[in-house]
Amino acid sequence: MSRRAELAENLARVHQQIAVACAAAGRDPGQVTLIAVSKSFPAADLAELAALGQFDVAENREHEARAKHSALTGLPLRWHFVGQVQTNKARLLAGYVDVVHSVDRPHLVTALSAGAERAQRSVDVFIQVGLSDRAGRGGVAAEGLARLADAVAAAPALRLVGLMGIAPLGAPSGVAFGRLAELSAELRRAHPQATGLSAGMSGDFQVALANGATHLRIGTALLGRRATKVG
Ligand SMILES: *Cc1c(COP(=O)(O)O)cnc(C)c1O
Repeated sequence: MSRRAELAENLARVHQQIAVACAAAGRDPGQVTLIAVSKSFPAADLAELAALGQFDVAENREHEARAKHSALTGLPLRWHFVGQVQTNKARLLAGYVDVVHSVDRPHLVTALSAGAERAQRSVDVFIQVGLSDRAGRGGVAAEGLARLADAVAAAPALRLVGLMGIAPLGAPSGVAFGRLAELSAELRRAHPQATGLSAGMSGDFQVALANGATHLRIGTALLGRRATKVG
């Protein structure tokens, strides 16, 4: 099977699964954004996905994102960044990425906003909330969320669009995503426009949809298994 046929089949299957999960939750699949997480796969795969109508793509490492972005400048892709952001890479990222899902500290807000301003662009921001007691997956603690949200909302070149969360391994994802939905409801009292909920990966997107996810970050189910662990 050609790579395009394989990607087409995967994309159709994921669309079908999203439709089923949305129907079960009484939700409109048209309100859900599917993002193809292409880390470790070649830029050529993104060109194939674009040919199939999948334009929202994500990376989790800045150098890889930058390489693919410059290889594919001719395509109308929307670039999402979902990995932990090093502060010294934030200005660079803000120069070409459209959406950052992983803002979890005030320093990053300052650096991203400065980079976006310098490039005369605007960057959409999801604040990543820590849903695990274990360190390592990133995310601001619930106590720090309101202050961080205020900082993003006040940054001239950033637009606060919502919250992002990664369900901890080895615990029911419904509990984590339910918590994320609660925090989102709280956030929207102060920031009514921040309606986005970036939640759900290949293994748990149906659960995320049942809990109100608006942006799904899906790698393996679309592109296949990654040969190496890349976070
Ligand atoms: C890799 C990655 C994904 C996609 O994971 P899959 O399980 O392959 O779908 C989603 N979100 C983040 C932050 C990632 O790093």
